[in-house]
Amino acid sequence: MTIIAEHLSQVNASAVSLITAKTQQLEREGKTIIKLSAGEPDFGTPDHVKMAGVKAIADGKTQYPPVQGVFELRDAICRKLKRDNHITYTPDQIVVGCGCKQVIFNAMAATLNPGDEVLVPTPYFISYPDMVSLNRGIPVFINTLQENQFKITPKDLEKAITARTKWLLINSPGNPSGAVYSDQEFKALAGILRKHPHVWILCDDIYEYLIYDQAKFYTLAQIAPDLQDRILVVNGMSKAYAMTGWRVGYGAGPTELIKTMFKIQSQSTSGTSIISQWASVTALEGDHGFVADNVQNLKQRRDVVVQMINDVDGLSCESPEGAFYCYISCKAVIGKKTPKGAVIRSDLDFSNFLMDECGVAIVHGAAFGLSPYFRISFATKMELLKSGCQKIAEACRQLTD
Ligand code: PMP
Repeated sequence: MTIIAEHLSQVNASAVSLITAKTQQLEREGKTIIKLSAGEPDFGTPDHVKMAGVKAIADGKTQYPPVQGVFELRDAICRKLKRDNHITYTPDQIVVGCGCKQVIFNAMAATLNPGDEVLVPTPYFISYPDMVSLNRGIPVFINTLQENQFKITPKDLEKAITARTKWLLINSPGNPSGAVYSDQEFKALAGILRKHPHVWILCDDIYEYLIYDQAKFYTLAQIAPDLQDRILVVNGMSKAYAMTGWRVGYGAGPTELIKTMFKIQSQSTSGTSIISQWASVTALEGDHGFVADNVQNLKQRRDVVVQMINDVDGLSCESPEGAFYCYISCKAVIGKKTPKGAVIRSDLDFSNFLMDECGVAIVHGAAFGLSPYFRISFATKMELLKSGCQKIAEACRQLTD
């Protein structure tokens, strides 16, 4: 007899946190590990945003925050959604949470009945399926192809929808694929969604500003305004503003859904830190010049990684249009042997080999639901990226048939 709830046997701890814990353990043992596994930018929070946090403390803004979020922040979020995305919301249609993660989790908690299905394109953000399972829903995967830049097609979507489908989760630019849906692609998906009015759409736009080359960011509500009454737009401060530790994310959606998410938050965590919320007002309303600099910097790193990886015999990747990850095929190394004679049977074996024998931490594709691949985060210093890629190349050269 166990104290643990039965449905939690379906739920995994996030693979990235497990890899981080293993990396820290190896470092404590004196090993040097090049970390290409983390999902956060190495840039610091911009100074004017940090100072807004300091000012909030000095001004005594240290009480319990309003559960739904400080009004001024919700108002600033509405202005941002209008300014950047041309979509209209009022502050009562906004809920602020402890990062996008809490917002997505609460959306699932607010809406799923046992057995409801949630469509999750693969490769997915690691937490999606487990957030669905934690709320007793069933994640239904839609596999994508590298040839199609890891994007779902209208046909894939139509095939996956059933009477039990509650949500489609869309993440563009995507983690880990870097895929960005164009306006035409969203229009085509909207055409299918219009035929199935019981399906809601959660658009996770957290990588909105991190976009390269000719790619343009769109969110579905902007392309298909007629669907806005069944869309939850999720966005946050973590990535573009380098504010992962401040824990601010938000959801914009129909009032009934937002009210229910508010209810859940009011009976669990309450609002996220009021200091972080005031700093976020400054981030959203203040100077955005640093974003272009960061994007330029990330693009240079992306180009180096894509080139170095595609030069390795046995590995290949697309050049991602957004976010800060490369999703790399390691199909050609499966079945090969390490110098110690172990056979690489999966992307997990390959990732363990890279960590244990070569001192590089990456995340295996199975954690994102699509194998055999692995993810490199290029939001890290150029020297580390170069030496990490060199180590990966050397590791591949050591493998034999
Ligand atoms: N969605 C995606 C696609 C992400 O990659 C992440 C962070 N890795 C999150 C949500 C969670 O972000 P937050 O820090 O806002 O909780």
